[in-house]
Amino acid sequence: MARITGAVCRLCRREGEKLYLKGEKCFTRCTLEKRPNPPGVHGRARRMGEYGLQLREKQKAKRFYGVLERQFKNYFERSAKARGATGIMLMTLLERRLDNVVYRLGFATSRKEARQLVVHGHFLVNSRKVDRPSYLVNPGDVIEVRENSQKLAKFRARAEALSDYRPPAWLHLDESKLKGTVLRLPTREEIDAPVNERFIVELYSK
Ligand code: SF4
Repeated sequence: MARITGAVCRLCRREGEKLYLKGEKCFTRCTLEKRPNPPGVHGRARRMGEYGLQLREKQKAKRFYGVLERQFKNYFERSAKARGATGIMLMTLLERRLDNVVYRLGFATSRKEARQLVVHGHFLVNSRKVDRPSYLVNPGDVIEVRENSQKLAKFRARAEALSDYRPPAWLHLDESKLKGTVLRLPTREEIDAPVNERFIVELYSK
């Protein structure tokens, strides 16, 4: 499975946005707050044209969701063929990924951790094991931590932490059972990705 590796805080510094790639550290000791300038000796001096801005928005979206180039392009092509505004369709597709939904339900502290947990087979979707992070959830899907996995210290800790957690309105969480339900697809306003998808559409439309 392809994945983004390396010093992830540099990615946030490059985009000038918190992309929440390091779990709890992002909320307590965020590197971007201490070092807001882009990495590299010329970080402060960069000026961007239209193409640069479009490229940065695409990179930001890819990094936020942990998706590599080819898969991201596939999402775009699928969005362009669908009915509705391409940019919004793209963001909705990304948000429907199982690793993102596991993160949104609070079963993991970052998308990266969620992806690992999914790959390791800790989740059921509609009572069947799904170990593909790119699986796209649909309204009515039930996502739950497998019974055996619930005994692991990692998930016991999450169950305690979830008592104060409220997922986005398009998801329902039963924290006592470590189970979530997709009530409907998210609206764009409910997707808090710091991305202007219009630039991405412009980039791919050239
Ligand atoms: Fe690092 Fe998280 Fe802050 Fe990004 S948001 S700079 S990953 S600590």
